[in-house]
Amino acid sequence: MELNARVSGLQRTDAGFRLSTADRTYTARQVIVATGPFQIPFVPPLAAGLDGSVTQVHSSAYRSPEALPEGPVLVVGGGNSGFQIAAELARTRPVELSIGSAYPALPQRLLGRDLFWWLTRLGLMRVTAESRLGRRIQARGEFVIGTDRRGLQRAGVRFRPRLVDAAGRTVRFADGSSREVDVVVWATGYRSDHSWIDVPGVLRAGRVVHDRGVTEVPGLYFLGLSWQHTRGSALLGWPLTIAAVALTPAAVRRATRVTRPA
Ligand SMILES: Cc1cc2nc3c(=O)[nH]c(=O)nc-3n(C[C@H](O)[C@H](O)[C@H](O)COP(=O)(O)OP(=O)(O)OC[C@H]3O[C@@H](n4cnc5c(N)ncnc54)[C@H](O)[C@@H]3O)c2cc1C
Repeated sequence: MELNARVSGLQRTDAGFRLSTADRTYTARQVIVATGPFQIPFVPPLAAGLDGSVTQVHSSAYRSPEALPEGPVLVVGGGNSGFQIAAELARTRPVELSIGSAYPALPQRLLGRDLFWWLTRLGLMRVTAESRLGRRIQARGEFVIGTDRRGLQRAGVRFRPRLVDAAGRTVRFADGSSREVDVVVWATGYRSDHSWIDVPGVLRAGRVVHDRGVTEVPGLYFLGLSWQHTRGSALLGWPLTIAAVALTPAAVRRATRVTRPA
């Protein structure tokens, strides 16, 4: 096991695969890519229009209200991170929340049980990506869980529609309204990054081509992709499976060789 070794390249060879890190090359007959669905914090390009004096933080770097400069904050993004950060900040300062796409809200607990208990019992975590229901859920988008608009309104959060422009210290919203900002928290999600994978046939328009994690390239598998097979595929606590693959640690050791520079 190698810690702190980012794989920067993956190529196919006659014998299998070659993986490169900063100082080593690995060869392997089989590769499982389990790099997670949340690799690159995404900030919309219009953020570049904001003046350097505006404090900008992506939700992945947000730690606490105290870590931000004092004063009003604009939170951009109406997913779980945006709602939760807005709720926390609203306890001590004025907050506006810009929501580009509104997701349905669900309570964290229902009739004394955690929401995921219900979702599991109702079979919703096992709904497959290709099923009719699975496709509908994917098209509809995520749920906001445990916080909702009414609660935030009570806490004093002011809602704004989608942010459409940013120039200097002024941001403009889809309804034509605008305001000056000092601090912006971008709760605008993540993108996956598979640019280091240089194996023909694996990526199409940046997306992994696979069937339940099995790619068309023999020996190359993915694990933990969003909706890889079911809703639970990229969540903690649901069984991670690759279709039709049985790899034991011994088999992985036999199939892997490490080359260190002389
Ligand atoms: C804000 C947020 C909140 C979440 N809340 C929940 C929740 O409440 N419940 C829940 O079930 N799930 C939640 N999730 C999802 C949860 O994080 C994922 O389900 C889980 O982390 C996926 O595990 P993973 O091992 O597949 O990927 P990760 O945990 O993302 O691990 C991937 C690993 O791969 C490494 N890596 C990436 N690229 C390379 C490379 N090129 N070379 C080498 N290593 C690399 C990364 O450094 C990382 O260590 C949340 C995610 C986010 C972003």
